[in-house]
Amino acid sequence: MLKRNKEADWIMTTEELIAARRAEPWREALRKSKKNKERTDLARVKMSELNPEYRSHTRLEEVNLGLTKEQAMQEAQRCLDCPNPSCMKGCPVGIHIPTFIKHIECGEFLEAAKTLKETSALPAVCGRVCPQEKQCESQCIHVKMGKPAVAIGYLERFAADYERESGQIALPELAPKNGIKVAVVGSGPAGLSFAGDMVKKGYDVTVYEALHEIGGVLKYGIPEFRLPNRIVDVEIEGLRKMGVTFVKDCIVGKTISYEDLHAEGYKGIFVASGAGLPNFMNIPGENLVGVMSSNEYLTRVNLMDAANPESDTPVLQGKRVAVIGGGNTAMDSVRTARRLGADRAMIVYRRSEEEMPARLEEVKHAKEEGVEFLTLHNPIEYIGDERGRVKQMRLQVMELGEPDASGRRRPVPVEGQIVTIDVDEVIVSIGVSPNPLIPRAFSGLEVSKKGTIVVSEEEMRSALPDVYAGGDIVRGGATVILAMGDGRKAAAAMDRNLRKG
Ligand SMILES: Cc1cc2nc3c(=O)[nH]c(=O)nc-3n(C[C@H](O)[C@H](O)[C@H](O)COP(=O)(O)OP(=O)(O)OC[C@H]3O[C@@H](n4cnc5c(N)ncnc54)[C@H](O)[C@@H]3O)c2cc1C
Ligand code: SF4
Repeated sequence: MLKRNKEADWIMTTEELIAARRAEPWREALRKSKKNKERTDLARVKMSELNPEYRSHTRLEEVNLGLTKEQAMQEAQRCLDCPNPSCMKGCPVGIHIPTFIKHIECGEFLEAAKTLKETSALPAVCGRVCPQEKQCESQCIHVKMGKPAVAIGYLERFAADYERESGQIALPELAPKNGIKVAVVGSGPAGLSFAGDMVKKGYDVTVYEALHEIGGVLKYGIPEFRLPNRIVDVEIEGLRKMGVTFVKDCIVGKTISYEDLHAEGYKGIFVASGAGLPNFMNIPGENLVGVMSSNEYLTRVNLMDAANPESDTPVLQGKRVAVIGGGNTAMDSVRTARRLGADRAMIVYRRSEEEMPARLEEVKHAKEEGVEFLTLHNPIEYIGDERGRVKQMRLQVMELGEPDASGRRRPVPVEGQIVTIDVDEVIVSIGVSPNPLIPRAFSGLEVSKKGTIVVSEEEMRSALPDVYAGGDIVRGGATVILAMGDGRKAAAAMDRNLRKG
């Protein structure tokens, strides 16, 4: 990434910018104000949370309560303001981590939020849902010293929340309008991040969304108790104020075609249509009443008011609910089921807890809320009653063998060990595949065997020269921050190529 230095008016590389910011007098003075040993001796902050018993019955209240100003400033002191901040290497959107943290240490919370927004369109979202323990925090120098990482995610959330609650939301600087129209397909994190970067560069940006809500998985997947919709809405409103146009209830490839987009004068298209097609295991009984995908379950609860028995399409509220899978989607589903009244809410996962892809915090919270973990168990059949409703599941007991292609130890069946457990609802959450609509509707795209759109790694550009793609439609099910990183990369490349003409 190159940045213009306003004072000196030369172009700096990211490394030069990091060094220049670190060398500013206030940063040097702050570093000298405390010895590194004093900083590393401080304990990592703990975020307050709702009481587990209370929260396991309330679906709409956020579990994590955020840091106080004092906690945030104290935690910021733990950061050593490293000359080569390894934490930044773990951030797919390249947030200037020590810079925003040092602003927090000084009590300059709005400046911290401004730094976050230079590179991230959704800091309040990322502060809540990013797997920081696998990204920035895993690279923090503290971890190499055997200490807990600086709580970068908590601090990111704090600064973004502070700005929102202060009402002093600063819009980023916008380049003068260049009159070039670009379209985005899908309003999840990849699409929003792309839209934010392109509108900043002066483009006329329109986002087309198939659903009646903007936000993608942030709205229809991740529940309120983890990511309140009002937080996502503020971020979307910011983009609207910057000039992004949103068109809802419009399915690109059906309501409007690739050719229509051209006819309307769009010079570039970014496809960010996600991976919303649920996978199933194809085992006996998956068609029974009471067995459904987590996509269906969460979308109905989060977007269609299905937890309300008076709604048009209320969802089943089982008492003994099994959720199959070990990712974030599985944790969100099982914790939702618990909140909707399940006395026995179970995670059924074929590997051990160590291999679970879910964020550590979600696993911890699920356990605190009374969720049972049946690890090293794999469903082989669902059994129905005389009315075709699921009443039992048969689980194969597993053990771990040699590592597979993913590097995780392969689960193998323990011969003869099968258990049968009573259930009245099963939610299958074993991964998703890309939605096939755009790959089919845009002829000329190269599509992988898995159904993802093939793009060049450097530019996110597809086989159609005016079509770029990113997020889950390229990666399969991945993460919010990787989707956002793709949106940024595609925006930079499309801008470069459109300028070349
Ligand atoms: C329940 C759940 C929990 C998750 N939890 C986490 C988490 O804690 N942390 C994390 O980092 N990641 C998490 N993820 C994964 C993360 O949400 C996704 O990787 C991310 O949202 C992908 O972003 P995206 O923009 O590519 O797609 P999406 O967010 O899926 O957005 C795609 C959008 O495109 C729209 N669309 C599709 N086709 C069309 C079309 N033809 N025309 C117009 N619009 C279209 C869809 O309606 C959707 O709104 C979770 C996923 C789920 C399902
Ligand atoms: S690696 Fe850790 S201590 Fe160093 S700058 Fe990053 S957050 Fe601060």
